[in-house]
Amino acid sequence: MSRIHLLSPRLANQIAAGEVVERPASVVKELLENALDAGARRVDVEVELGGTRLVRVRDDGAGMDAEDLPLSLSRHATSKINSLEDLERVGSLGFRGEALASVSSVSRLAITSNTSDSSSAGLRAECEGSTMEVKVKPAPHPRGTTVEVRDLFFNTPARRKFLRTEKTEFNHLEEVLKRQALSRFDVAFQLRHNQRTVHQLAACDSELARERRVASVCGPAFMEQALYIETDIGGLQLWGWVGLPTFSRSQADLQYFYVNGRVIKDRLVSHAVKQAYRDVLYHGRHPAFVLFLELDPASVDVNVHPTKQEVRFRDGRSVHDFIFRSLHRALADVRPADQLAGQLEPAQITALAEPGQETLAWGRPGGAIAPARGGSRPMPGQVGEQLQAYRQLYASSSASMRLPETAAEDVPPLGFALAQLHGVYILAENRDGLVLVDMHAAHERITYERMKVSHGGEGIHSQPLLVPQAVAVSAREADCAETHRELFSQLGLVVERAGEESLVLREVPVALRDADMEQLLRDVLSDLLVYGSSDRVAAHIDELLSTMACHGSVRANRRLTIPEMNALLRDMEETERSGQCNHGRPTWTQLGMDELDKLFLRGR
Ligand code: ADP
Ligand code: MG
Repeated sequence: MSRIHLLSPRLANQIAAGEVVERPASVVKELLENALDAGARRVDVEVELGGTRLVRVRDDGAGMDAEDLPLSLSRHATSKINSLEDLERVGSLGFRGEALASVSSVSRLAITSNTSDSSSAGLRAECEGSTMEVKVKPAPHPRGTTVEVRDLFFNTPARRKFLRTEKTEFNHLEEVLKRQALSRFDVAFQLRHNQRTVHQLAACDSELARERRVASVCGPAFMEQALYIETDIGGLQLWGWVGLPTFSRSQADLQYFYVNGRVIKDRLVSHAVKQAYRDVLYHGRHPAFVLFLELDPASVDVNVHPTKQEVRFRDGRSVHDFIFRSLHRALADVRPADQLAGQLEPAQITALAEPGQETLAWGRPGGAIAPARGGSRPMPGQVGEQLQAYRQLYASSSASMRLPETAAEDVPPLGFALAQLHGVYILAENRDGLVLVDMHAAHERITYERMKVSHGGEGIHSQPLLVPQAVAVSAREADCAETHRELFSQLGLVVERAGEESLVLREVPVALRDADMEQLLRDVLSDLLVYGSSDRVAAHIDELLSTMACHGSVRANRRLTIPEMNALLRDMEETERSGQCNHGRPTWTQLGMDELDKLFLRGR
């Protein structure tokens, strides 16, 4: 008797389900993807007991006819690709053709569908037994499809044991719906749990509606403190909302990233984002963002993970650089004027045209979107002129200048200093009300940014080590060091290969001569191997400059004169990243007249 035999279709499907169906949330994800792929304009999700008793997804998409319906339940059956070439530039969310077969092997699944506009038409399919034979019978259904999944894992007790509480399972599937809802603003979504409506999201027909959806998914606080960005360079496009550094989270739980509309979690992407926030985020905090990357489908491989959560970029390095540079610029360019714009004007949209084709736009925090291309924002020189004007205005007036003497439009964003409070805060008056500045934090950032600029201008000075340092590495790392020799020397590191698995460090940056250079070299190599680039040397140098800046800045309890305070305010308006100190804390805040009025119950 032969020892080898074919598995029954159900068992084969159950094994496949092990990979893709982990919990009710996985079922919701697959069914939502199918509904969207079918062109649905509205998708209703109804679940009971955290999805363990029932997941029902109803869509108004294309539907399936008598021929397709039974096929949809067979493994390796899909309408989405035909050939390998199709897979290489796949535009649909699904393509593996195994979700329905897998889910139906571990639950009681029924599909009802109709491809016609006659609502008395329609078919219902269920599959039974170890052969998973499909039974089809007539059942009325409006155009579209309803998939009902009952009693998940009823026949796989080992899996069922891994299910958590109703609440936990529901939270997971709610998160899936939120992620999907942010990927398709044009589709209406509804989520009901135990007969109660939890989310009701209408299709978005305007920018305002989109913002409202982001606010309802991510919370209104995110939207109030988010920056809209949009960049486009050589076929790569990145748009979405990024939280200001002062809106950070203790966990990486508010991070939504989409590649060509597909929700993904990717190490390369997380690294690029983290690096962009490095200089402005409080240690150990996580940024919040909703970002969409669009690129040629042929340059990204989506077939690298069974649940398609990960992707592989053909040119990972340029994607990493693009994400990093776009976010880094956007965060550096936040100025008091931008942050205040939201409170002053309905929407102030600015765009920066950099040399090259890069365009970058950002609105007031949470502001209306008006994609600005081609540079409607004043060029850096013009900003300089404007500041020059402030300076003259300020210089030509007496030190104790107050608002009434100044035309409203000539008041600089952070206003004019009034006084100093307990040697710690500067109080200033601007068009909108009271501005409070943490003087040490602000000065520290200004000093730090200046040091970075002057350090950057001179380049990284290196100095030879008295005794060259041998570093044992893997052959792959040694190859990498050899290929990137030029890059290393730009970083002030002169590295030579000394053998198959060894390197010699001959020169190091002067600023870092006391650092653990061997560890740094290893970290840079591992960055280069994984992400294709590394900002470790720059990060270390920045850290050093930041410490120096901290010591060199005005300490608390130093009395400043009014002109000194005004000079600090003007510097803040000009300095990159001046909204946060070097440790990511805010440097200033504002109490508008309306907020003050509220405090005093005025106008009630
Ligand atoms: P895949 O999505 O990878 O193709 P699935 O097992 O999820 O594999 O679905 C199999 C096929 O069933 C799909 O290719 C599609 O043609 C059809 N299908 C599934 N769900 C729907 C739906 N909601 N509306 C219309 N067709 C659907
Ligand atoms: Mg699918």
